[in-house]
Amino acid sequence: MNPPLLEVNSLRTYFNTPAGLSRAVDGVSFALLPGETMAIVGESGSGKSITALSIMQLVPEPAGFIESGTIQFNGKDLLDLTWEQMRSIRGRQISMIFQEPMTSLNPVFTIGFQIREAMLTHGKYRGDAATARAHSLLERVGMNSPDKVLRQYPHELSGGMRQRVMIAIALANEPQLLLADEPTTALDVTIQAQILTLLRDLQRDTGMSMLLITHDLGIVSQVADKVAVMYAGQIVEQAPTRDLLSNPHHPYTQGLIASLPSRSRRGNALFTLEGVVPPPTRWPGGCRFHDRCSKRMEICNTQMPSTTSQGEYRSVRCHLYPSAEAVTSQEPTR
Ligand code: SF4
Repeated sequence: MNPPLLEVNSLRTYFNTPAGLSRAVDGVSFALLPGETMAIVGESGSGKSITALSIMQLVPEPAGFIESGTIQFNGKDLLDLTWEQMRSIRGRQISMIFQEPMTSLNPVFTIGFQIREAMLTHGKYRGDAATARAHSLLERVGMNSPDKVLRQYPHELSGGMRQRVMIAIALANEPQLLLADEPTTALDVTIQAQILTLLRDLQRDTGMSMLLITHDLGIVSQVADKVAVMYAGQIVEQAPTRDLLSNPHHPYTQGLIASLPSRSRRGNALFTLEGVVPPPTRWPGGCRFHDRCSKRMEICNTQMPSTTSQGEYRSVRCHLYPSAEAVTSQEPTR
């Protein structure tokens, strides 16, 4: 098997806040193979976006900092790189797209300028070659009139078109890894489906790996090979997508799947996952999900479960699935 393109180990990203230390990402480990798509799923506040920002080393400083862990990319720990070295990897080998493209697009420059700029920054394409590539990238992301779009400003485009432009910019330098943070959340359902199909096709055609961050478990089956479910700063279950959706182990994953609208449409009673993710300054002791878990046992109130292997490609963090062999070596104590 190929070595992982990306391997995150025991990552902890914390923030100093007026309410105390926020342990937003608290011991996260996963690996992504070349050409693979993995979804990180969880409710708002689970730490999934901060995981992506940590990989890009875009955690807002000085409040935020990576407390410990490693982020191996192509065998090198990104946390050992200088700011300059990391800047050259960002946008060239690793690109990122966000939920709201207007926050990333500059309103005073044309789309053509901004796509060309992304290429010039990393020196891969220049002059006429950059313009030609900008044109072909817009065609590739499904723009009907690339010439016109190249001359337009972001405010002249719809939300779906802006997201296509962001994808074109992200792909400009042929990255090995694309991080997509809620790329379809701001779009209506039809456009959402088009963008997901586009991302899946681009991933397949280019062979890049993709890490999709989403709160919507319903969309992962369309794009992801495997899924990591995050809750309260930790990964609570990882599995191939089909296995996770057909046979979820962790009670939180079961709750997320039971509350999918498509399940209720098939005649099941509408299920709502009660409660919210607790604030990261006050993670509960024991299992962090115990306040919301219908399968809670005595041990869950006081002892944090370890992550245990459930077969070659599957792991779960829950006392219902004990195993002699814990997957992670550096478990938080609470
Ligand atoms: Fe529920 Fe206990 Fe498993 Fe936590 S460890 S998910 S509280 S059964």
